[in-house]
Amino acid sequence: MKNLHDKMQHCFSESTMMLLKKVGDISKRMDYKAYLIGGTVRDLFLCKENLDIDIVIEGDAIHFGEKLAHDIHGIIISHKRFGTCTVTTPEYIKIDFATARRETYAKPAALPTVEFSSFRDDLARRDFTVNAMAISLNDGDFGHLIDFFDVVGDIERKQIKALHNKSFVDDPTRILRGIRLEKRLGFTIEPHTASLMRKSIEKERYKRVEEPRLRDEIMLILKEKEPFHIIERMDEFRALKIIHPYLKLHKGLNETFTAIDEACGWYNENSPRKRSIEKWLIYLMALFEDVSHDGMLYFANKFEFKRGERLRMLSYKKQGRKVLKTLNAKRKILPSKIYHLLEPLSHEVTLLLMAVSRSDIGKGRIMEFFHKYNGMRTSARGEDIKALGVKAGPHFAKIMEKMLHKKLDGILITKEAEIEYAKKLAKRRL
Ligand code: ATP
Repeated sequence: MKNLHDKMQHCFSESTMMLLKKVGDISKRMDYKAYLIGGTVRDLFLCKENLDIDIVIEGDAIHFGEKLAHDIHGIIISHKRFGTCTVTTPEYIKIDFATARRETYAKPAALPTVEFSSFRDDLARRDFTVNAMAISLNDGDFGHLIDFFDVVGDIERKQIKALHNKSFVDDPTRILRGIRLEKRLGFTIEPHTASLMRKSIEKERYKRVEEPRLRDEIMLILKEKEPFHIIERMDEFRALKIIHPYLKLHKGLNETFTAIDEACGWYNENSPRKRSIEKWLIYLMALFEDVSHDGMLYFANKFEFKRGERLRMLSYKKQGRKVLKTLNAKRKILPSKIYHLLEPLSHEVTLLLMAVSRSDIGKGRIMEFFHKYNGMRTSARGEDIKALGVKAGPHFAKIMEKMLHKKLDGILITKEAEIEYAKKLAKRRL
């Protein structure tokens, strides 16, 4: 059996190694067995450090996690129903602990019935061979590779292979996982596995999967570094219909995704009021460009996206193109108008408009918005307006808004000028 101790030492950070040794020590004390498993082992072979560590315990995983969290001053979150827990270390390394188990499926595509069982079965129930090896963390054989399915061979052949013929009947989300993994690792889905996937897609087995599970996989695809290639491969498998029945790989999507990367890159470098951007959502809206508003609504509801996410998707459908047309126009547009158009939209929608705008004028106006107008405030505050005798209410809000617009347009420069202007508006009653 191969020992990977040196490779671990080389590829993992010192703190990860110390942590894994600690896991070994605790398992010895508790008379349990602990194994590093899944993506962590796969990524070790590719010498990529994965900060999400998966460990399987032959013994009570929650009890184990509690002991570790106590010893390293970490934080534990337990899921009693599944017999799993997550420990986060003070260095923010996240370790998921599960008890070695065998899963039997009550009926295909249903949630598995968890039955505690042996370690080999735990590996056999995984999605692909590349995720089905383990490394012992136990005293005496720390670093030993456990490979029941010739995974090392599959890694050498750079192939993604299912563990058994019913894999995509049991769980069609694996179709999405397989394509994602293939593109992420630069591997190829092995021909027999590909034909099992095609069969499952043809038979529309994905229709029996709980939507949130599919949604999570769709989001993971869009969160990958190069999601376009995954979408393109899904199209080859005729798997885009898993997302939406009318979804097509439209011409120019690749360029749009690249333009989204550029727009987000520009935003991160240049926007003074940086806010974290949900880039996956921008890709998703671009992917749905040719789907109608109602089609998007159906998708957003069916897959139970969060309210904020749904609203952003739909606002692009409702207002996006109209706003862009105005912004792309050659005629002069006042900054207050640009502000008025873009301020109500989310940054994700605005960045998508920047990416899809074919006009330098439109792009420039959006950049100007992020750079200057977004988040601009008047120098006069609410109290200054109250001091003029204006009561809170729509009239008050209107004065504040008008004052801001004049400031954006460069008409009001000083706080005094703003207050003078507000005085006039207060008398006039808008
Ligand atoms: P990533 O680097 O994307 O986090 P990962 O391999 O760690 O990849 P997770 O989604 O965290 O992926 O899943 C952890 C492990 O659980 C996987 O390595 C895989 O073995 C197993 N797994 C996840 N989803 C499934 C599934 N649908 N069917 C079978 N096994 C699965």
